[in-house]
Amino acid sequence: MLILMELKSPRADIEKVKEKIIANECTPHEIPGSRKLAIGITGPSGKLTIEDFLGMNSVDEVLRVSKPYKLVGREMKPDDTIIDFGDTSIGGDVLTVIAGPCSVESRDQIFDIAGSLKELGIKFLRAGAYKPRTSPYSFQGLKEKGIEYLADVKKEFGMKIVTEVKDAQTLPLISKVADIVQVGARNMQNFSLLEEVGKIENPVLLKRGLAAKMDDLLMSAEYILSQGNYNVILCERGIRTFETHTRNTLDLNIVPAVKKHSHLPIIVDPSHGVGIWDKVTPMAMAAVACGANGLMIEVHPHPAEALSDGFQSLTVNNFKILLGKIEKLASVVNKKMDYAALQVTH
Ligand code: PEP
Ligand code: MN
Repeated sequence: MLILMELKSPRADIEKVKEKIIANECTPHEIPGSRKLAIGITGPSGKLTIEDFLGMNSVDEVLRVSKPYKLVGREMKPDDTIIDFGDTSIGGDVLTVIAGPCSVESRDQIFDIAGSLKELGIKFLRAGAYKPRTSPYSFQGLKEKGIEYLADVKKEFGMKIVTEVKDAQTLPLISKVADIVQVGARNMQNFSLLEEVGKIENPVLLKRGLAAKMDDLLMSAEYILSQGNYNVILCERGIRTFETHTRNTLDLNIVPAVKKHSHLPIIVDPSHGVGIWDKVTPMAMAAVACGANGLMIEVHPHPAEALSDGFQSLTVNNFKILLGKIEKLASVVNKKMDYAALQVTH
């Protein structure tokens, strides 16, 4: 159920509505919008009726939410969610570019690539320290050491860090350093991990599972919001299909579909979506064209020597070319690229 109240409702009226919800063993979620103040209700709301709220002060409308996902849906919040990072934001008309290697491999490697990306004006550096690998014999990441290097690189370059959490045990360590905590494709339906990231303050980047439908992705996001963390960024990263000419099939259809059903920002990771470096740039362009709020691109100082995902990583030079192309497209779709410094060469 959704209660729509006047935007400038007195605090006392809002609190009365919330108290009634809590008294019925449900949870109120206050969601400010541009036209109305919405109070979403989650929990066993069967006991509550529309009439319970209709006569209350400042209450305009009470609606039943028809979708299984409540807090992530547009019914609950018609306005786009924009996540604030101080000197930049994700969502709305900003086109965000997150870039970096698949993994932190050494102090030198992460400082090298961060320096190059910083020069290009990139504000978000991605790199995994805890890597979910298909084989237990593959490089598993530098773990705590990797997080330490990310903390150092953040201090040195002032970049925002995006890094993956694989389990609840390492979440406290990761969330100290990460500006965005990434939940990977393989953990998209690890519901207890989703509940844990729902309790932290950091924004969460939730990647689509390998065989997850849009509704599955939105329900997973709902787990995070239901715990009180409303700063979730969705990420399309390719799904398994019968097609094998690329590593995955990048399902760009989901971008306009998510935009219709949810207020959350959605970015696209064409690196994992295609798995082959020379297809990353055209699919990044397609992602921008269809309305994505941003891109996540794997870039490595020496892709041939990468310890993970080298075949899909761009060199710095090729990444520069990608940026030049994306920048031209951004204005066509009424988005602004947000660089720390404009140093892209065309
Ligand atoms: C990654 O971003 O490096 C990664 C492991 O992604 P995914 O979870 O999409 O496979
Ligand atoms: Mn990777």
